[in-house]
Amino acid sequence: MFGKVKRNKDVIQQNISKKNKKELKAQKKWEQDEERIKGSKFRLLNEYMYTVNSVDALKHFKQHPEEFKIYHTGYAQQIEKWPESPVGNIIKLLKESEQFQNKKLVVADLGCGQGEIQEHFDKDKRLCKLITVKSFDLVAIKPYIIETDISNLPMDDCSCDVAIFSLSLMGVNYLDYLGEAFRVLKKNGHLIIAEVKSRMNNIDNFVNLITGMGMKILKRDEHNSHFVLFVFQKIMDICQFNGPLNQKRVYQILGQKDPNLKDWQSLGQQILQPCVYKKR
Ligand code: SAH
Repeated sequence: MFGKVKRNKDVIQQNISKKNKKELKAQKKWEQDEERIKGSKFRLLNEYMYTVNSVDALKHFKQHPEEFKIYHTGYAQQIEKWPESPVGNIIKLLKESEQFQNKKLVVADLGCGQGEIQEHFDKDKRLCKLITVKSFDLVAIKPYIIETDISNLPMDDCSCDVAIFSLSLMGVNYLDYLGEAFRVLKKNGHLIIAEVKSRMNNIDNFVNLITGMGMKILKRDEHNSHFVLFVFQKIMDICQFNGPLNQKRVYQILGQKDPNLKDWQSLGQQILQPCVYKKR
């Protein structure tokens, strides 16, 4: 009699654990699917930002700020897989390199994402007295981030010592972002750029583009597998890049006169290709 009750109990127990296992499996599958959807959404948003004008990107994210969070969660997961992070290397550069050490600096982080550079220096008791970081992005994930399109910066001419683009030359009008960085930098100020290697067919073209604006190159660090880190210094007062010289200058840099390159956007894309993911 007792044996039968025990057997029944065992059967019930087995059924419960079978049910739990099934539920757990379903839950796991749900979570995996959700991750996959978020990953796809990140890739979609990433491609969107690389293929539209920043005016449209700003409008889009103003209407859908939640998508900006999805983008940055995906972005952080992506960067975690890289052997080094561009932001980490830029912070190291600002702290350890002779041209920046022990100097009072106003730094503009253009396309700051989660604002990690400002967060780092604001937290440092000694360096926060020397380094003032201003962070700009389309959406302010943190309260200190200034919401703006960096192709039109709310900063005075010659008002900062260092301008940074860490993987942020995204819009099809990124040439305008570069023009703005040139404008807001003081003479002898520094421009730090981290850019994805695979976007550049020819790194020299990109370097020539910036030096052609009136800068000299101080550093070109290609040791990282995923990105190149550049440091430039502004040596001219007037950006040679502005005005009707633009297209002519870029044509010279590319060393060609391609009849398909009629507009500013295609010129830019010849030098830095949009970072789009392969379709799965
Ligand atoms: N610099 C950060 C984030 C890189 S992701 C880092 O290295 O971790 C690229 C960022 O550039 C995104 O947050 C995107 O919104 C921003 N960005 C691209 N174009 C922009 C524009 N026109 N104005 C403001 N931010 C821009």
